[in-house]
Amino acid sequence: MRALVYTQPNEVKLQERPYPEVADGEVIVRIDAAGICGSDMHAYHGHDPRRKPGLVLGHEFAGVVVESRATSVAVGDRVSGNPSITCGVCDHCVQGRENLCSNRGMVGMTRPGAFADFMSIPAASLITLPAGIGVDAAALAEPAATALHAINLAQRALHRPLQEGRVLILGGGAIGMLAALLLKHHGVGRVTVVELNAARRASITAHVGCDTPDITTQALPESAYELVLDCVGAAPTRKSAFAAVKPGGVIVHIGLQDWASEIDMRKLTLAEVALLGAFTYTLADLRATITLLERGAFGDLRWVEKRGLADGLAAFDDLHHGRTAAAKVLLMPA
Ligand SMILES: [Zn+2]
Ligand SMILES: [Zn+2]
Repeated sequence: MRALVYTQPNEVKLQERPYPEVADGEVIVRIDAAGICGSDMHAYHGHDPRRKPGLVLGHEFAGVVVESRATSVAVGDRVSGNPSITCGVCDHCVQGRENLCSNRGMVGMTRPGAFADFMSIPAASLITLPAGIGVDAAALAEPAATALHAINLAQRALHRPLQEGRVLILGGGAIGMLAALLLKHHGVGRVTVVELNAARRASITAHVGCDTPDITTQALPESAYELVLDCVGAAPTRKSAFAAVKPGGVIVHIGLQDWASEIDMRKLTLAEVALLGAFTYTLADLRATITLLERGAFGDLRWVEKRGLADGLAAFDDLHHGRTAAAKVLLMPA
């Protein structure tokens, strides 16, 4: 079978790989669509020590089960899934917070990923798709669930309902875009997305319809947003988040482009700002997301770009050079 392999920093290659073996409790999925994630780009740039050369990347997928050695999923089932493979028995797993599992693996990281014709995965990580959900929407379930999880965490920390306040999203990649769409669906009227790539800003304006100021010419208001979602997670965005958050407001840190910076602990303390980390999602979040996608809560998804698996090299290169307006590129092996 064909697989898109990370070979060295700034290089992926289409290679012939053996058809995967199917272990007990696992299945083989024929991949119909797999999204390129920011974390795949991070690996491509050689910045992720957990993803080493020789690895098949890709963890956002939708496909059909073609072989099964599990009772919960049958051959022919259309599936998407959680790429995190969790133990089911640690304290976090038994509390339904399996995104925090102490013994987790992940497809496209600790085992071969979804940029291939076929992939093996434990059946426990899969979710069977309802008939009404298309393959593009299903492949977006992973990043959409990340956005949903972050918004749900924020909702628990906010003093007033989300709909009453203003929301600032830093970063108009897939998570930022999906978060903006979900907030709109929730009836939040005042959403601003900050994105440096002008082509992406135009796409956000066209497909989300929210405010997308060009911050190189227009300063953001200070202490003005009840909620700030940092979907970039770099020193400058953390600084912007603290400047923009309203006293008593919430910052959710979702992106993780770099790990360290000075943060405004004075404002955090005196203005009672809540700073929350958000990491992926739980199976319950994924199920809720599939239901929302089926109901069209994330819009028509026309901003998603589709390419063949063999076009993966060019797709990585275009994303690297900021040449694509699409916040999400799906690779379609079929
Ligand atoms: Zn991802
Ligand atoms: Zn666990």
